[in-house]
Amino acid sequence: MVVDFVLKNANVLTIDPQQPVAGTVAVSGERIFAVGSAEDADILTAPGTKTIDCQGMTLVPGFIDAHCHVFSFVRNQLSLDLGQVRSISDLRAALRKRVAETSPGQWVMGANYSDFHFAEKRHPTRWDIDEVTPDNPVVLAHRSLHACVLNSRALALAHITMETEEPAGGRIERDPETGEPTGVLIDMLGYVRYRVMPPMSDAELEQALRMANQHYVSCGITSLQDATITNEVRRWHIYRRFQEKGTLKSRIYLMTGVEQLPRFREAGLSFRAGDDRLRMGGLKIVLGEATGRLYPAQEDLDRYVLDCQRDGTQVAIHTVQPSTVSAALTAIERAQAAAPAPDRRHRMEHCAECPPGLFERLKRTGVIVANQPPFLYYSGERYLTQLPAETIPWLYRMRSFLDAGVTVAAGSDSPVVGNEPLTGICAAVTRQAADGRVIAPDERVTAMQALAMYTANAAYASFDERVKGSITPGKLADLVLLSEDPTQVPPERIREIKVVMTMVGGEIVFTFPPCATFLL
Ligand SMILES: [Zn+2]
Repeated sequence: MVVDFVLKNANVLTIDPQQPVAGTVAVSGERIFAVGSAEDADILTAPGTKTIDCQGMTLVPGFIDAHCHVFSFVRNQLSLDLGQVRSISDLRAALRKRVAETSPGQWVMGANYSDFHFAEKRHPTRWDIDEVTPDNPVVLAHRSLHACVLNSRALALAHITMETEEPAGGRIERDPETGEPTGVLIDMLGYVRYRVMPPMSDAELEQALRMANQHYVSCGITSLQDATITNEVRRWHIYRRFQEKGTLKSRIYLMTGVEQLPRFREAGLSFRAGDDRLRMGGLKIVLGEATGRLYPAQEDLDRYVLDCQRDGTQVAIHTVQPSTVSAALTAIERAQAAAPAPDRRHRMEHCAECPPGLFERLKRTGVIVANQPPFLYYSGERYLTQLPAETIPWLYRMRSFLDAGVTVAAGSDSPVVGNEPLTGICAAVTRQAADGRVIAPDERVTAMQALAMYTANAAYASFDERVKGSITPGKLADLVLLSEDPTQVPPERIREIKVVMTMVGGEIVFTFPPCATFLL
């Protein structure tokens, strides 16, 4: 057995209860060969072994983002980032600059704007942006991805006029006096991006994927669980192609929705097909509630879940309000009663507002909660301003789920909010929003619990606990070296810890430049 790397002088937090801390990790090929004490470094080193002196820094398993939207994040790389823009007049200035760098007729894309953070406290309209973008179609994506704004040229290309009827599942916002579309479209971003805009060229796709990859590895994300209902077979092949080219280093677990699931099956891609780089995930269902009605209706939901329960496919149900959490549990309970089977590991995505009465049902059904600690940081201010006070203690619970014996996996919902796992870990431990206010402090977890949510628990949520999620001999060598120990620094400083090195499958894919020279 050839040991390729010995990482020595490390403060290793293995997230493996069998051996929680260590000093040395040896890597052979793409796997962890041995985990030992500081003294074991010399024994494991052989001629040809590269030694990485970690200088006492902290080594943890590669972070797993248990809920994100990879293609949207990739697409956003080519967009003007509006995340820091604080008014519509600043937005106009940013667009004017972008347009000056863009050829006439070319689409201009913006992303991450937040009406909540605009001084005007409203979405921009086409009339706000037309004047600065006369020669280019423009689409601006709201950071939630549930709204977007088109200028008049883009509306014309989309054939959206006063006469256009409301599309299924979407909404065209109109001026109340004239009935003219304002440019604001609700739940139509996918339609605009994939039906109206020309597809990204291969060169654009490669550039965007390269940028996305650089971001992922620079914040220590070695695995991504993609919960996008519109994932299609074509994306599987895109990820595969760019992983093989080496452009995309992170591993992907690809979920899909009810419409696309049969296409994957026809292509021979049933649940868990693929390999450790790219694996087929389960069925993602977005369960919503409006004016007292569920979408999809309970009977349809029951049928989707039962079909999956029968054929061994995991379901991942998006739930926000208590009524949807309860309806999702009902569907899972019914499916389990009708077709008992061990270990289906159905998931609840977000489970955003959960009253205590539902804990027992979560526990009994073995449902995994995939929630998003970064929301607390990035959206906490909005929650505290807009949500009823009695809802706040139910929001993005962590501690009470763990105490009730429910597995919690952490993700970001990126690009809805930032995906840096250390920001998420910090938020899970402090429950602090960006403005410093605290949301439901009783739900604070320890740094070690938060690390487990981003590693071992997230691996469990994709049935991958045998191959990743902890620093254990035989598992994939997905490792992250951190400048400081998240369990030792003051909790509010966890966010400032630097990722110094990221390794995926025994390959060093990122080093923090100032440290790169002494790593090897
Ligand atoms: Zn999502």
